[in-house]
Amino acid sequence: MATNKTPGNWRRRTQAVRGGQVRTAFQETCEPLLMTAGYAYEEAEQAEARFKGESPGFQYSRLANPTVSMFEQRMALLEGAPLARATATGMAAVSAVFLGALKTGDHVVSATAVFGSCRYVIETVLPRFGITCTFVDGSDLAAWQAAMRPETKLLFVETPSNPTLAIVDIAAVAKIAQAGGARLVVDNAFATPALQRPMELGAHIVVHSSTKFIDGQGRALGGAILCHQDFLDENLQQFLRNTGPSLSPFNAWLHLKSLETLELRMRAHCDSATKVADFLAGHAKVRRVLYPFRDDHPQAALARAQMSAGGGVVTFEIGGAKPEAFRFANALRIVDISNNLGDTKSLITHPETTTHQKMTPQARAAAGVTSGMLRLSVGLEDADDLCEDLDQALKAI
Ligand SMILES: *Cc1c(COP(=O)(O)O)cnc(C)c1O
Repeated sequence: MATNKTPGNWRRRTQAVRGGQVRTAFQETCEPLLMTAGYAYEEAEQAEARFKGESPGFQYSRLANPTVSMFEQRMALLEGAPLARATATGMAAVSAVFLGALKTGDHVVSATAVFGSCRYVIETVLPRFGITCTFVDGSDLAAWQAAMRPETKLLFVETPSNPTLAIVDIAAVAKIAQAGGARLVVDNAFATPALQRPMELGAHIVVHSSTKFIDGQGRALGGAILCHQDFLDENLQQFLRNTGPSLSPFNAWLHLKSLETLELRMRAHCDSATKVADFLAGHAKVRRVLYPFRDDHPQAALARAQMSAGGGVVTFEIGGAKPEAFRFANALRIVDISNNLGDTKSLITHPETTTHQKMTPQARAAAGVTSGMLRLSVGLEDADDLCEDLDQALKAI
């Protein structure tokens, strides 16, 4: 198979289309989908050499697969990361980072506002192995600093966060981690590398749910871990190979092709989300709009400093509580009610009763989730149609 030329020197849009591509003897223009579990050896001696690590090539798709490797290389180029490893889901990526890097006695500091399943892993799974955690308000740098202990190994943030779109200062928290001999892990699912590259701001590890904007079409689950060689060697490679959260070559192939249009799609998502946010902010039945690039977002300046656009998600509060929120959602004709996000189709969810239902009322309040709050993932439909749909549904309240 022939490897591509020098993708490191290319600009982002060229990397997105051609980075990581490897052609087989058929010289196909589209990346090949190599849907195979195993690989044949020319002779027994070659198998022996490959298992010894003395012969390059593939052995078994739990360990590595050519199509998955192409997706990993393209992801690393777009994130400006030394390397990437793909996983079956975003949660497989998050879990592998924690379980691969931590041992009994270690300590984690996490922002309070993180994805519900990430919180479950940190709060419920890790303590079973004697790993403790402190949750802090992500925007409070003094709280991050105060939570650091000699045994702190990982700091975890999601920015913008789900569903309140709170922003964490990646560079500042990375410095706190570095000074304490720990690593900062950033969940970059909401922004994607098209809008934000945490490693360039000092983050040590980036995790992704490629299920969201990277797939972009609501089809396939996937995840990725971006890190440096030392973290891979010491904490991740053997863990991933032996526990097996591998991404299917089919899903890798879909995500690889999706990366080609990621920047173009994100630009369209952001343009429409901006229009929708402005429309909602001017509506009499909307109490509050949260969108990172609007001047009324409490951290708009920080968002502008570390992101190139505000993202595809808009969160807002209507006048009223759960009954009004349900009446509004049920009246929508274009926007679907769905807890997924990052699809071409606009999707709305009521976090209190879905994604954040399992939290205690106190934890929900601490995360800023209210009864009248709705999270809208703005798709690629015409923004005027979306505003008209939201307008007619707001009349139902
Ligand atoms: C969806 C999501 C995850 C989990 O990803 P899966 O692919 O569903 O496992 C993690 N973090 C964030 C921010 C997400 O939106």
